Amino acid sequence: TADKPQDFIRQIIAEDLKSGKHSQVITRFPPEPNGFLHIGHAKSICLNFGIAKEYNSVCHLRFDDTNPGKESTEYVEAIKEDVRWLGYDWGEHLYYASDYFDKLYRYAIQLIEMGKAYVCHLSGEEIRAYRGTLTEPGKESPYRNRSVEENLELFERMRAGEFDEGECVLRAKIDMASPNILMRDPVIYRILKIPHHRTGDKWCIYPMYDFTHCLSDMLEGITHSLCTLEFENNRPLYDWFLDTLKTPCHPQQIEFARLNINYTVMSKRKLLQLVDEGHVNGWDDPRMLTLSGLRRRGYTPASIRNFCDIIGIGKRNSWVDMGVLENAVRDDLNDHAPRVLGVLRPLKVVITNYPEEQVEYFEAQNHPKNPEMGTRPLPFCREIYIEATDFMEDPPKKFFRLGPGREVRLRYAYFITCQEVIKDEEGNVVELRCTYDPETRGGSAPDGRKVKGTIHWVSARHGIPAEIRLYDRLFTVEHPDMDKKKDFKEFLNPHSLDILTDAIVEPGLARATLDDRFQFERQGYFCLDSKDSRPDHLVFNRIVTLRDTWQK
Ligand code: ATP
Ligand code: MG
Ligand code: MG
Repeated sequence: TADKPQDFIRQIIAEDLKSGKHSQVITRFPPEPNGFLHIGHAKSICLNFGIAKEYNSVCHLRFDDTNPGKESTEYVEAIKEDVRWLGYDWGEHLYYASDYFDKLYRYAIQLIEMGKAYVCHLSGEEIRAYRGTLTEPGKESPYRNRSVEENLELFERMRAGEFDEGECVLRAKIDMASPNILMRDPVIYRILKIPHHRTGDKWCIYPMYDFTHCLSDMLEGITHSLCTLEFENNRPLYDWFLDTLKTPCHPQQIEFARLNINYTVMSKRKLLQLVDEGHVNGWDDPRMLTLSGLRRRGYTPASIRNFCDIIGIGKRNSWVDMGVLENAVRDDLNDHAPRVLGVLRPLKVVITNYPEEQVEYFEAQNHPKNPEMGTRPLPFCREIYIEATDFMEDPPKKFFRLGPGREVRLRYAYFITCQEVIKDEEGNVVELRCTYDPETRGGSAPDGRKVKGTIHWVSARHGIPAEIRLYDRLFTVEHPDMDKKKDFKEFLNPHSLDILTDAIVEPGLARATLDDRFQFERQGYFCLDSKDSRPDHLVFNRIVTLRDTWQK
């Protein structure tokens, strides 16, 4: 919006358009299809697609698929679905780095012809050793000064499959003494005898990220290539390829701080480990901060876009508290989610002075602050369920809910008083016998008698059973992957999932759809589980609690 201060990237873009450097801004979001997108990617998506939207321009979705061993069409499809779900559209601008393999190959040949690339037979280990360190210049490869002809022939043979994996690579010939180690003759092609999910067996040499990325940006006419700070040192290389090849246009790489959230891990490699080793139930496990996990958990796209807006775009890496993400969805749901009653851990209450066959209906508000959301009839009868935690046999003074001889208000209904506690053989409370005061219909007593507590309930005759899944953070420490001695999985929270199988929810929830999100009064926000819920076995996920109750 116009009145909001612009982040530094938007300032640069506005400047470039004003000065006439560009007449149109074109951005791209370049995921590698080697896993599902996570909330960190959402930051990049909202930035790139957001800018395109603001300028009525386009953002390209480009799959950076140069690593066939780890990539698949399944990931491509999942990524498309997630970007669309977040509310963004690439229109016709769907690209694959693999579509450029022929062109990239020709650019590599051009570099060789310019004397700017050579085939090197050092092993990966030797290349690393020759590369030197920050304080020590690198050593030149013995293959560095081969003739152009020899390099052309060797590169052609690489492509023809005459060498084994690891036998040789193509390297850019830049500067082995550069203070930037990435400039010390980086590898630009390696041999991988792995079929590619799009090009099949056509290639056995694949271009490296740095070589591919700048040229893909250039080929698509990207104006601003936005990436995370770790790529700052790659920028000279990005520019070197484009400058050396004298390409017709030269996109500008700009780096911004990546998103880090505490109590989670945020790299596809680690998320994949959690999936593969069964610590979670798939990429879309509602505890995962993947976009598919957040979607299944019940997060709205608007809340994630809003979250990205709140955290903003900066140049310094920092940690964002998980509570900020949770607040973003809570704010959205507080405004939009209809209120319902659901009892998670039911305790039966028999209202002994209520007529056996009678049913009456109370008009319940769907939203306390928004009358336009209407009302619904809530059935009430002699037997109801209340939350087991709303009763204490020997309550402390400050406990304003139900106890022997105590009176509470049933939400929308009557005052009831607990007269008798029924227990099983082991002494567990299994039922309460209460009486109600017919004069208190609607929640107040004509004699002015006050009760402090109001509790929720569901009619035993009308309520429907449901399974409820409560989620907690996946890890018990703020920075699970920053411990030098321990693997991040040692910090998994053993109580991150709590399954309640006996819940009872109000009858209207039988009509809930996968698009609905509800506030279960006093319990939090819930939605149906898209994978496991069935009409004859409702499964609800808790999206988030009502308040930020999480204790550090
Ligand atoms: P990961 O380390 O999780 O595998 P990645 O950067 O390797 O992430 P890509 O598929 O290459 O994954 O990412 C696509 C785009 O998303 C890149 O432009 C990258 O900069 C951006 N991105 C990835 N993670 C984050 C993050 N945590 N915060 C902001 N942007 C991110
Ligand atoms: Mg990447
Ligand atoms: Mg990665």
